[in-house]
Amino acid sequence: MRSAKLVEPKKIMLYENDPNPNVGLNEVLIRVKAVGICGTDIHVWHGERADVTLPRIMGHEFSGTVEKSSKNFQKGEKVVVDPVVSCGVCVSCKRGYPNLCSTVKCLGVQVEGAFCELIAVPENKVYRFPESLNWVQASMVEPYSIASEVIFRGVPVAGEKALVFGAGPIGLGILEGLKLRGLSVMVADLVESRLKKASELGADRIVNGEKEDLAQAVKVWTGEFGLDFAVDAVGNPKIMESAIEMAAPGGRIVVLGFNPTFAQVPELFLVRKELKIMGTRMNCNRFPEVIEWFREEKVHPDAVLSAVYPLEDVQKAFEHIASDPQNTLKVVVTL
Ligand SMILES: [Zn+2]
Ligand SMILES: [Zn+2]
Repeated sequence: MRSAKLVEPKKIMLYENDPNPNVGLNEVLIRVKAVGICGTDIHVWHGERADVTLPRIMGHEFSGTVEKSSKNFQKGEKVVVDPVVSCGVCVSCKRGYPNLCSTVKCLGVQVEGAFCELIAVPENKVYRFPESLNWVQASMVEPYSIASEVIFRGVPVAGEKALVFGAGPIGLGILEGLKLRGLSVMVADLVESRLKKASELGADRIVNGEKEDLAQAVKVWTGEFGLDFAVDAVGNPKIMESAIEMAAPGGRIVVLGFNPTFAQVPELFLVRKELKIMGTRMNCNRFPEVIEWFREEKVHPDAVLSAVYPLEDVQKAFEHIASDPQNTLKVVVTL
């Protein structure tokens, strides 16, 4: 089969005759049709992830068809795959948190992913998607599952005021999810084109942190009460610190970055306002909800799509993002 492997930082090579994957017990063989590139892939491409060994077939946001009938799927069915790889037997897995598995991995990061023609995946991670979706749209179910996880964990309530830091594909997905729950949402970023997109997707207030004092804007917008809900979709400890300062009594702050830098968290602020700070990691069985969002056209994956490249040009697809990361949202590779 054809595959694309990261062989050294910033260098992806195409292989024409890679062996087809072995299909294990309870696995399904998928013919890949579209694969999105995510921020994690860009970090891997730059060689910034110590947990990734090379060569590596990246790609964890993908759609495809069932190549060979299995217990629960027929050949030709259109599917998406939850990329969280878990052992199924550790304490976290048994408690129902595969994303917190003691040996958790993500397809395309610590194990081979989807920039290739065929991939074998556990049957219980495979989901059918509606006929109305095209391959590229379906590949975006996974990034929206990150947004769904943030919302599930943070328990936003209709009428609350939320701030999403960062208007990349994940931040914009969180914005859409929060609007579905009936919140007023402010989005902060430093890039005008991203803020414009946030407006189009229903942000009630946008703030360019380079042109406007964000703390002051939050004060005015919330009538001095503060933020009920804040999400750091950038992954910057300074953002968590300012979210804590701007939070309302009873506020919740959700973080999802992988930044190892310490943040200063004053205990007094947490106690005085009874704040909750929550981490979210990948997604915990959120695909069914997100597929419903897509089926009912409640979210707008096309709005975050910046470009589509064929597999032959996967290197160009990564260079496209790396050359203009600020103005590029989702780039998808098709097979
Ligand atoms: Zn991703
Ligand atoms: Zn486990």
